[in-house]
Amino acid sequence: MSGELSLGRLKAILEKHNIRLRRSLGQNFLVDGNIVRKIVTASRLAPGDVVVEIGPGAGNLTTALAATCAHVVAVELDRRLLPVLEEVIGGLQNVTLVLKDALEVDFDRLVAGVTGAAVYKVVANLPYYITTPLIIHLLRGQSGVAEMVLMVQLEVAERLVAAPGSKDYGAFTVTVQYYCRPEILFRVPRTVFFPQPEVDSAVVRLTRREKPGVTVDDEALFFTLVRGAFAQRRKTLANALAGARVFPGWTRATWEEVLNQAGIDPRCRGETLNLEEFAALARVCRQRLVES
Ligand code: SAM
Repeated sequence: MSGELSLGRLKAILEKHNIRLRRSLGQNFLVDGNIVRKIVTASRLAPGDVVVEIGPGAGNLTTALAATCAHVVAVELDRRLLPVLEEVIGGLQNVTLVLKDALEVDFDRLVAGVTGAAVYKVVANLPYYITTPLIIHLLRGQSGVAEMVLMVQLEVAERLVAAPGSKDYGAFTVTVQYYCRPEILFRVPRTVFFPQPEVDSAVVRLTRREKPGVTVDDEALFFTLVRGAFAQRRKTLANALAGARVFPGWTRATWEEVLNQAGIDPRCRGETLNLEEFAALARVCRQRLVES
């Protein structure tokens, strides 16, 4: 069986296999063909492309992705869905189903093993409880991800595209914008899911930059500083970094000196710094660490 899963058809197939969806696994399935089509169109897939889908669920989006003739590698955690997926996508030659926790999958290796490709896209209606760690895993750990089209909570979508100084801007924003260009494509009401989640959603596209948004010599140091700057948002930057004990022995006075050297006012808050300013700070810190 393939084709669109309406609410009635989804309920029937779940009942047939005696499956109750679990909120704890983020199981809010899409039951609106129009939204499924909009996601597939936004994915701009061509025959020969490889697409990773995280959380195929009952195979609704999977079927539509496979219809583009791209090769779909679908990774699902919940083994109970196997008979449903066999029924819905079992006949599709260009779909490979893998039953694993997406947070533990090395996607570069998986895709290379299944298809031989080194570059691929990720398209998913994400399980919301792992959105942030999953996006970080895909950006920091998996260099083959060229682009992602993802359904996420609206609140997460706003954090992805936030500008310095806004309440949504944080370490997650800086990390994402370091690796890619995020954009909100369209909002999605909760009514298109079964069961309905308690939040509204949005579909976003993250396009990986050819090289990171700023040049840094030491990525680990850069991200340590970003985390430290946002650890205590209400404090001034010098106090936050000293309080976060980013480097042993660095007092508030040390941080004031370093921040001044980087051209940053030590009394500002971390949330006002843009990527270039974080990079400038990382350069000055690295220099001081090398010299000490
Ligand atoms: N793609 C389907 C759709 O759009 O109707 C289902 C999307 S549902 C929001 C999220 C899916 O992710 C569920 O099928 C759930 O079982 C699966 N999932 C949850 N945690 C996962 C994990 N750690 N790794 C892989 N899949 C996971």
